[in-house]
This record gives sequence, C-alpha cells and structure tokens, in this order.
Amino acid sequence: MINKIVIANRGEIALRIQRACRELDIQNVAVYSEADRDALYVKLADESVCIGPASAAQSYLHIPAILSAAEVTDADAIHPGYGFLSENADFAELVEACGYIFIGPTAANIRTMGDKVSAIKSMQDSNVPCVPGSDGVLGTDDETNLAIAQKIGYPIIIKASGGGGGRGMRVVHTESALLNAVVLTRTEAGATFNNPDIYMEKYLEHPRHVEIQVLSDKHGNAVHLGERDCSMQRRNQKVVEEAPAPGITEEQRNTVGERCAEACRQIGYHGAGTFEFLYENGEFYFIEMNTRVQVEHPVTEMITGVDIVKMQIMIAAGEPLPFTQDDIEIKGHAIECRLNAEDPDTFMPSPGRITQFHAPGGPGIRVDSHVYNNYVVPSHYDSMIGKLIAHGADRDEALARMSSALGEIIIDGIKTNIPLHRRIISDHGFKSAEFDIHYLEKNITNTA
Ligand code: ADP
Repeated sequence: MINKIVIANRGEIALRIQRACRELDIQNVAVYSEADRDALYVKLADESVCIGPASAAQSYLHIPAILSAAEVTDADAIHPGYGFLSENADFAELVEACGYIFIGPTAANIRTMGDKVSAIKSMQDSNVPCVPGSDGVLGTDDETNLAIAQKIGYPIIIKASGGGGGRGMRVVHTESALLNAVVLTRTEAGATFNNPDIYMEKYLEHPRHVEIQVLSDKHGNAVHLGERDCSMQRRNQKVVEEAPAPGITEEQRNTVGERCAEACRQIGYHGAGTFEFLYENGEFYFIEMNTRVQVEHPVTEMITGVDIVKMQIMIAAGEPLPFTQDDIEIKGHAIECRLNAEDPDTFMPSPGRITQFHAPGGPGIRVDSHVYNNYVVPSHYDSMIGKLIAHGADRDEALARMSSALGEIIIDGIKTNIPLHRRIISDHGFKSAEFDIHYLEKNITNTA
C-alpha cells in the first residue's frame, strides 16, 4: 500500500527512517533546507527535494512546501519523524486531506494528547494512573484555587495545558506564593503557547522519569514494549536513556504496560506512542503522551528486537501487528547517550565543521548519526548530532561497552558533550542506579 515515503525531517532521524524504508523496499524522498543541501543522507535518498531556506519556519515547518514535495515526487505517505511537524494535528489532517498517508496516529488523537488537560482526562477514563491534581483547567476564583492546592498538598506544580519542551511550568512551595504564580503561569502560557489554560498537580520531589513504549495497529491490537528510564535530564531535556528501567519488576512493567496498551485500544490509537510517567516510591504517575517516534527509541529496539520505525510504517499501511504481547521478550539492557554539538560545561551550541569523525564499534554498539568527516553542523537547528547506543546481557555489560565506545569515538573540530557522557557513565550514583530526575544537574553538571 505504501510505495514511496516523504521523510519530513532532517538529521539522524531522517537517516533512520531512510534505512527502514530501504529494508521494506519502499522508495524514500528526502526533503531538505538549503542548510542541509550537502548532507550525505540527502545524497543517499532515492529522491530529494529542496523545500526552502535554512530557517525551519520556512522549510521543515513549512507545510505547503512539504505537501508540494509529496506531490511532485508522487509519494503516497509522509513520515514526520520527531520534533518539527510530528505532533501537529493540523498537519496530520492536511496530509490525509491531500490524499497521503500520515505515518502516525489520527489528528484527533494527536489533538487530545497535545493538550495536557484533555490527555490526563483521557488517561483517567482509561484507568492509567495520573498525578493527583486539579480536575481540569483552573478557573480564576482565588478561593477555589487556594482550596484545590490545599487539598493536593504543597509543593504543587502549575502547568500550561498547551505546554511542551519543559516550558510553562512553575513549582509553588507555600500558600502565600500560589495566587501570584497562577497569574504568572497563565499569562506566560497565553503568550508562549497561545493557550492560557493552566492546571495544577502535586509536585513530586524525587521522581524518576519512566516511560512506556507502545505499538498499536488499525485493527484494535496493541502491545507495550516495556519501559525506558530517562531520568538523566538537564533542563527537562533527556541526556542519557536506558531500558529496562533499573529496579522495575516484571509485574510492574506488565501492569502499567497493559494499562497503556488498553488505553490505546480504547482511544483507537494507531502507530508508535510513548506514555511518560513520573515514578516515585513504587508508583507510576502519568504526565503526558508523545504521539510519535522518540529520540530514545533505539534502547527499546535493542532489548526487544522490534524495529519501531518499520512497525510505524507497516501500521500506517494498514498491516496488523505481526506479534502479540506474549511474543515480546526483553533481552539484556541498553543505554543511549545523546551526542550534542555543544560545550560539555557551558552547554553553548558548537556548530561548525567536523574535521575528524570516527565511529566506535564492537559487540552491542550502535551509532545512529548522520555525521561524517567534513560534515558541517548547521547552526539553525537542534544541537543533537547523533546517538550512541550500547547493548549488553545486563546493565553492567551495557555500561562497560558504553564506556569503551566513549573512549573510542572521535569527533574533532567542534565541541561535543562526549566528556560529559564519560563523566556520567563513570559516576558512582549512575552506575549504581541511585538517581532521580534532578541527579544530573545536582551531581554531575553542577548547573542546578
Ligand atoms: P513537557 O511537555 O514540557 O516536556 P512534561 O509534563 O512532560 O512537560 O514535564 C517535563 C518535566 O517536568 C518532567 O520530566 C519532570 O522533570 C518535570 N515535571 C512535570 N510534572 C511534574 C510533577 N508533577 N512533579 C515533579 N516534576 C514534574
């Protein structure tokens, strides 16, 4: 049903999707901005179309240009990757209205999950455990809001319903600070996300970030592929991810995983998706759902042997899942380090020419990156230039392999966060899996 796919993205994920297309014997079309013209994956694509200047607003986010690329190449589907238009419900709707297959869930599902209040409501209806909080959007009555916070118990966090990327949140520790924080967060939400709706939830002080990967087809079948731990974050951005999450029992995994799979069946979800949870004192608390492939999907692929991107394409083509939950087996442990072109201490972006690139190898090592010798990292986009993934029979072996790979890898000419990853991988607290979402900032980057 799908013969040609337009890959509406750039960088490592564009290359990742291209590889999946090749394996499935599907033609791929790279779309690129002028800043990505010389990228190797663009040259390797079956076809390529320039969609505009470097600015993302005029290229990777420019819907008419992407739809035109699909038309001129006579493609039948569009894969949005992550970021850019991947969670834009209007885009998904337009893609389908123009007669192409959107490789992802329905626009309605994207819309529900894109609004945090409606996402939480939908999850409560499906019995997915959520953070105790306000029943929907906060009103403007001060007394009511004070009473809601009182009932939840301080500290609380006020969040923008339309928020994303770690922005639009404010933690409140005392009653005296509440009303001011409500007004401020609402004003910021209106200005930043064009949606002033805010809500309140209990602020968990030492949680881990644990998320469940799901796959759901168009025939009512859904499975979970276990969990990932993404607690190593800086400014709410993930830095290192791993699967399975240390300390999670098979019973916990199956219980929360099955609830997520059941939620997919109930809302008629199709494609790959991730349910993000905060995990504290043995309990899972849903915070949001990502309706796309995630940067960290390889760690799940390494421990399950399931190719998530290929599955996205097959599901979009209308094929039923080729396996059931019982067929999914977790083997070993995988860790991913996100490689960023940035100063490892100040985190300032460091675009420019890579004068030498040497990829590490050996058992269990996977490098997902579009860079090569003499590749120029453009300054216009996210600083991530790839991912280094290590798989082992257990967490210790995965750590040892990652450590060895971080010793081998060479990226010269620009600054990268490789020195930071070496610090993380050799850190005692990380090695013994004693961390929460604040650990990296407090103990390793010292930028808390
Ligand atoms: P975004 O869509 O902006 O990424 P999330 O709702 O996923 O927002 O939250 C991002 C991060 O903010 C979480 O990974 C966590 O670190 C922190 N956070 C969000 N909600 C809470 C909460 N209730 N308690 C503690 N930390 C929270």
